Amino acid sequence: MDQIAQSLVRQQCYVNGEWTGQPSVPVTDPATGDELARVPNFGAAETKAAIDAAHAAFPEWAAKLAKERSQILRRWFDLVQAHSEELAHLMSAEQGKPLTEARGEVAYGASFIEFFAEEAKRVYGETIPSPRADARILVIKQPMGVVAAITPWNFPLAMITRKVAPALATGNTVVCKPAPDTPLTALALMQLAEEAGVPAGVLNMVTSDMEGAAAIGAEMTSNPLVRMIGFTGSTRVGKLLMEQAAGTVKKVALELGGNAPFIVFDDADLDRAVAGAMASKYRNTGQTCVCANRILVQDGVYDQFAAKLAEKVREMKVGRATEAEVMQGPLINEKALEKVEAHVADAVEKGAKVLTGGKRHSLGRTFYEPTILTDVTSEMRLANEETFGPVAPLFRFHTEEEAIATANDTPSGLAAYFYTNDLGRAWRVSEGLEFGMVGVNEGVISTELAPFGGVKESGLGREGSHHGIEEFVEMKYIMMSGL
Ligand code: ADP
Repeated sequence: MDQIAQSLVRQQCYVNGEWTGQPSVPVTDPATGDELARVPNFGAAETKAAIDAAHAAFPEWAAKLAKERSQILRRWFDLVQAHSEELAHLMSAEQGKPLTEARGEVAYGASFIEFFAEEAKRVYGETIPSPRADARILVIKQPMGVVAAITPWNFPLAMITRKVAPALATGNTVVCKPAPDTPLTALALMQLAEEAGVPAGVLNMVTSDMEGAAAIGAEMTSNPLVRMIGFTGSTRVGKLLMEQAAGTVKKVALELGGNAPFIVFDDADLDRAVAGAMASKYRNTGQTCVCANRILVQDGVYDQFAAKLAEKVREMKVGRATEAEVMQGPLINEKALEKVEAHVADAVEKGAKVLTGGKRHSLGRTFYEPTILTDVTSEMRLANEETFGPVAPLFRFHTEEEAIATANDTPSGLAAYFYTNDLGRAWRVSEGLEFGMVGVNEGVISTELAPFGGVKESGLGREGSHHGIEEFVEMKYIMMSGL
């Protein structure tokens, strides 16, 4: 265990301002298999208690001045910043991402707290010209009540702050469930929230093992006190939560799987495209929902692009998160590794060629070699499913129309990227892509300042930016009459 600050390791859940529960579920380092700590295995009853606490805390929190909530969030942001190094080490240990990436995520995750601390003061209403002389129309925005958040392991900190910060800023209270693989970062965040002065019951964190997640989710989606479910994770679970939430007509905000196309046109700056592909494909060992999943390269530059990309990929250092200069860590678990292997095997069987990598890494465990496949076609599994691993499949195309049609040929619609130096094409393709986010000559698009989210089966709603605030408020129309 490298330099994990024990002061931030909590082995209990945080409910109603108390640390509670028996540590029982082991949390391990995916690079070594070492047990780092244990956390409680909460179920429906404990989740209900957390929801009750959040419900009880709601009126007082909602009644606070926006500025008061803003100041508490700002203190939380300052504390996260002050502890960024410990948080990054903790995250790398339980998740496996290289320290440089973990530091980046702490900064990214903290930025949502800072941004929404500021936005808390700007939840403006509206007046609308009245249809009658003796009446006025007003629109105000109010918090909804208890928000439930369920978050994934690939961004153990940022996926929490992206939901919790706007929820709290607008006066809601929250019960959050982190992924069983990465609860330690989540609980460390709770400790800092407590220190920042978030009142008891306003923010609660419940943990469980893999199986327990369903029981917590079922309580969150069926309990009538919960008014909204915010979820980031797989499309399968997102659909299930949406179905379950229908029983009490809860609002749902879903960030689900992607199948991002990364298109390189003949007129692109190839070095820039290679740098973008490296960042977009191999970040977090290919385990982000906006990672390039299909790299579509125009015929005229296909071989040149493949060669340039291979040169960079072969230079990548693979290893434990804490080793210097490591650019790629292990995959999160055995299941993830098996999926990557299956996708590569299926592609090779159907005619793809391995340009580099293509097998488990000699480091063992869940390490996989950074891989490039060429001659990839739409019949292969990795064209239609999210691989979530360090595999770059290169598809060949001939025309702009073909590239757009291929890119859109998926039920997913989260992020898309393309490289071109033609201004007209930049507009045509941006508008033609059926995706919620588009990077033009850019491979990394996440920022707290912009609306993150997808279309089609990639989700509902947007997180981040001033639009992210709207997800957490109810609009109320008031007609004042007899004036
Ligand atoms: P992944 O396949 O990337 O692990 P999941 O959608 O399974 O994505 O996990 C995302 C989050 O959803 C995690 O916190 C996980 O524990 C949780 N989860 C998984 N199954 C359920 C379920 N049936 N109900 C509620 N939450 C669930």
